[in-house]
Amino acid sequence: MKEKRREIVNDSARALHALAKLMPLLNAQCSLAEMLETINRALGSTLAWISVDNDGLQRVVCVGEVACHSFEVTDFLASTLLQRNHRSWRVVYWKEKIGHSLFSPQHPGYAQLQSGVLCKLSTHDWHCSGYFFLAFEEKLYSLPNLKNIMVVLVEKLKDYFEEIIAREKTAQEMQRVVTQYKTLFERAPVLMNSFDKYNRCVLWNAECEKVFGWTMAEIGAHSDPLSLFYPDPDERRRVLESVRISPLKDMYEWHPVRKDGVQLTILWSNILLPDNSILNIGLDITERKKAEQQLEVKATTDDLTGCFNRSAILQQLKSSLAASSRQDTNSHFCVLMFDLDFFKQINDEWGHQVGDVALIHFCDCIRELIPVDSALGRVGGEEFLLLLARTDGNAAMLLSARLRSVLSTKPLRVGDKKLVLSFSAGVVEVCQPQRDTSALLMRADKALYDAKRMGRGKTVVASDYL
Ligand code: GH3
Ligand code: MG
Ligand code: MG
Repeated sequence: MKEKRREIVNDSARALHALAKLMPLLNAQCSLAEMLETINRALGSTLAWISVDNDGLQRVVCVGEVACHSFEVTDFLASTLLQRNHRSWRVVYWKEKIGHSLFSPQHPGYAQLQSGVLCKLSTHDWHCSGYFFLAFEEKLYSLPNLKNIMVVLVEKLKDYFEEIIAREKTAQEMQRVVTQYKTLFERAPVLMNSFDKYNRCVLWNAECEKVFGWTMAEIGAHSDPLSLFYPDPDERRRVLESVRISPLKDMYEWHPVRKDGVQLTILWSNILLPDNSILNIGLDITERKKAEQQLEVKATTDDLTGCFNRSAILQQLKSSLAASSRQDTNSHFCVLMFDLDFFKQINDEWGHQVGDVALIHFCDCIRELIPVDSALGRVGGEEFLLLLARTDGNAAMLLSARLRSVLSTKPLRVGDKKLVLSFSAGVVEVCQPQRDTSALLMRADKALYDAKRMGRGKTVVASDYL
């Protein structure tokens, strides 16, 4: 190898032969580094580098048996250019000791490298300019030889360089974009995943792992990964249909379960990508939904008794009336309006606090007796409204009687004393379509008033007409 090198640097015939063999190996398909390696191999140079100024960006590629850093190239170029009139040369030589100009004395290349040649590089449109450099371990005796090699090489290479640099720039730009999107994909506080047509998970970002608790490897090991999130086969089928058949561009609410079995509320949207795969993008709104539900419960609940408050029970009444006027099946219902008897006296005798507990006790006793689809609300101080679905007046009377019995058999205990609550009630049956809430309430109120008038502790069914 050493022998061959000496021959090429100082022997023009050998050099031209090596150059002729090298030329077909150089093409724009290789990278800059590959191209420099090929040149080193063919010409026996120990170091080759190219420094290109590309749209104001200095790019250095070094290749060879001697390690060379871009800062060493930059320093060397700066000192060389300082010493020379920049316009007046195309090729510069160093016959020996080029290592001294490139490296510090501790560097192996300092003593190892002898001759060197630097050639200016420019392309047609001056978009890209730079320098091409070769260094050899041998001293240089014959000047024109190396000069010819460099000029021929640079002429051949300059167009390639432009092409390679443009290609590498595009590749770098692509890589940058890919890295950007990868980072976005990984770090975005948004759920992003994708499953292929065989139901295999092909994308699973960090947020998915954080929210669901499963890693991509764990999901990959499962034969039907979707069943991890949607154990109910019907829901799973709906999810698959929504993704495969009609991807949802808008956010839609789903309730998958996470690894520990807790059910989540997720807004999912399915985006069809150009390659026909589907990217699922989701937002975990479990906490927000919980807070909203808590707020809604608070806004519709009576603080003291835990039953519906006035506006909520009146709203329920409106909905029940609307269903009855649409003549929906099983939409008939019964309204009971309760008023505790002599409640002012209870407050006066037992104290306001006991009065409060009595109101809670009254509601508890009602709740014990009514079906789950009933609605109980507090419309005023000691007045309550009860809506009983699919119930007629007789059943309402029966329930009222049972309530009286519960109140007397399970009186409120205050210390060692017992407080039996008494109430009056008015009942209205709704079995014909009607819409007017106030008319209905007036009828219930009138029946209640009648019960009071008749001596309290009674329930009266409202007559059909006021
Ligand atoms: P009637 O049999 O005619 O209904 O007599 P009453 O005493 O029950 O009726 P009245 O309307 O005279 O008095 C109702 C009382 O209910 C007065 C009020 O202080 C009491 N009250 C209303 N809201 C509350 C409450 O939240 N807690 C307590 N402890 N008492 C309440
Ligand atoms: Mg009252
Ligand atoms: Mg009262």
